[in-house]
Amino acid sequence: MSPIDTNKEEKEILNKYRNLLRACSDKTDKKDKKLIRKAFNLAVDAHKEMRRKSGEPYIYHPIAVAHISAKEIGLGATSIACALLHDVVEDTDYEIEDIERMFGGKIVRIIKGLTKISDVFDQDISLQAENFRKMLLTLSDDVRVILIKLADRLHNMRTLDSMPEQKKLKIASETLYLYAPLAHRLGLYPIKTELEDLGLKFTNPDIFKSISSKLNETKVERKKFINKFILPIKSSLKENNIKFDIKGRPKSIFSIRKKMEKQSISFEEVYDKFAIRIIVDSDIENEKSDCWQVYSIVTDFYKPNPDRLRDWISTSKTNGYESLHTTVMGPEGKWVEVQIRSRRMDDIAEKGYAAHWKYKGVTEKESSLDNWINQIREVLENPESNAVDFIDDFKLNLFSSEIFIFTPNGDLKTLPKSATALDFAFEIHSEVGINCLGAKVNGKLVPLSHVLNSGDQVEIITSKKQKPKKDWLRFVVTSKAKTKIKSSLKVEKKEIASRGKEVVERKLRHLKVKLNRKTETELIKHFNVNTSLDLYYKFGISSISNSELKGFVKIKTAGWYETIKQKIYRGGRSITQSKKDNKIIVFDDNEDVLDYKLAVCCNPISGDKIFGFTTVEDGIKIHKTDCPNSIQLRSNYAYRILKAKWVDKETIDFIATINIRGIDRVGLMNSVTKVISSQMHVNIRSINISSEDGIFEGEITLFVHNVTFLNSLNEKLTKIDGIKEIKRTYKHI
Ligand code: MN
Repeated sequence: MSPIDTNKEEKEILNKYRNLLRACSDKTDKKDKKLIRKAFNLAVDAHKEMRRKSGEPYIYHPIAVAHISAKEIGLGATSIACALLHDVVEDTDYEIEDIERMFGGKIVRIIKGLTKISDVFDQDISLQAENFRKMLLTLSDDVRVILIKLADRLHNMRTLDSMPEQKKLKIASETLYLYAPLAHRLGLYPIKTELEDLGLKFTNPDIFKSISSKLNETKVERKKFINKFILPIKSSLKENNIKFDIKGRPKSIFSIRKKMEKQSISFEEVYDKFAIRIIVDSDIENEKSDCWQVYSIVTDFYKPNPDRLRDWISTSKTNGYESLHTTVMGPEGKWVEVQIRSRRMDDIAEKGYAAHWKYKGVTEKESSLDNWINQIREVLENPESNAVDFIDDFKLNLFSSEIFIFTPNGDLKTLPKSATALDFAFEIHSEVGINCLGAKVNGKLVPLSHVLNSGDQVEIITSKKQKPKKDWLRFVVTSKAKTKIKSSLKVEKKEIASRGKEVVERKLRHLKVKLNRKTETELIKHFNVNTSLDLYYKFGISSISNSELKGFVKIKTAGWYETIKQKIYRGGRSITQSKKDNKIIVFDDNEDVLDYKLAVCCNPISGDKIFGFTTVEDGIKIHKTDCPNSIQLRSNYAYRILKAKWVDKETIDFIATINIRGIDRVGLMNSVTKVISSQMHVNIRSINISSEDGIFEGEITLFVHNVTFLNSLNEKLTKIDGIKEIKRTYKHI
């Protein structure tokens, strides 16, 4: 490596700084410049000893992020200062208090937001989701946090080459998964496109290279075609005294690749590898009619495809995008996409949210982007939703195309495609959704699950008595509806469960049983539910009868099965088997071998489906499942019924499979095999162990003699440090 030339580097830093100032908007005044200078000085000092993976001085990175924020996103001085400072608190000796002292409240809030979102690298997916949610939460504070974060990510992607291979893949995938859709949602098209292309470059380098080289090869030809196409339009626009800008723009590599995949076609078969963009300079009052005039001129020369007209001027996309798109038949029988928009619309398409801000109040239109951000806030403010679910819902809403629905008054609402009448109800208001009884679409009564089409006019019928049903979650698609339904179901379940708990407590008191932790656990087991919430909910909706509860208490106090088992064991293990047949009966899930008698009423023989009925006097009696007495026995004495089945006498050996999961550490594997082979003297049939991302997973298949033995093995395995979960399955051989 050549020695570092600090002189040269210092010059380069100053150069970059001057470029940054040049990238700032012309509205930047003296005060703004002073602020940027101050932030720059601090950042240079804070990062002075640091270098990036590429060997460059670290300060190059914050300057680049600030440059992107200024030039490509169009942010102002405060954001530029924040971008310069974005890594200071996280990576250097400076504390957040230092920033507060030097720069004050506004900047410190943004820096806090940026620091809170620690880098999502090297974390598992749920943490990553949590982190992303945190980032979105900062939307409620200040959108600038996310915009700077996107600038940060873009520069990291541009300089990803110097990272190790694994990190490249991880960062690039994350970019495709989260950041590019977010940039899209915030209307930052060029940034979204670049993030996608870079994402593809690092996740799928071969495909990326092949498409980009083919694009290069066909460049000259394409340019010729574009010029030929534009020529007549240009002169006609001039004749009509329209001030305009016209250019042919290649589509992104990512989008070409997406088209190839989606339609399973080759590169050559993708017809719209570029689009023509016409930008008109017109006043805000005339921009709509000007755009349509341009449309009229274009279609004078080329026939439009009526199915491909998109009017996002009359109704903009939710991310703020406004434009008029048409696809026309060009020379040589080739379809060409033409995008027509005003200078203002183009600004918004390029710079998204920031540009929106700039034009706020200039247009009458209520900003749909503001609406969207408000929606996100609402979803985010619901603490109940889990992070992974949230991201899934959120992503769904990021990607889906939109439909437009009218209220009875003619107001327009935007919903994702495949939204239902119920989604629309929640869109109007959560109360309307919660009490939604039905809907009328274009005057016709439809079920709540009815999928809406763009242009539908929808009226919602409500009733105060209506409450959300679990079933509703099957057909709503918006995160807003999902979250509201989930939380209202949860609240309701909790209320019912707390009533149920009072009920069961009172009933048990009558039966002289106290409801404590132990009883609760026994109840959960007995009624085969997962949690105490589920248990009390069942009592709350009266799905457990009094006699069932009495049955439980009887078993609990008398301990039927245990009593009888003890008695039989004490009475010796003489197994009264039918001599002619080499099968015996085993009981319960543990397959205990116990003494029994065959019932005379139905006389079961080996192979019959059977159950055991426990009696104090006579031990266990075996009945056929379809014995005429069985219904009466089962319904009145359910707690005395024992599972039973026939097995071969000779070979009461099991093959057991144990699945274990835990947190991996050095020596864990060794401890596991040691317990199994040396301590327990069992035969291992096969072992399958894997360790991924710190999680140890193993499947061990063993020969064991009985289940009691297996249980004690489980107990020993559980005690090993790091083992978190043991699951067991076994079968006879
Ligand atoms: Mn950074």
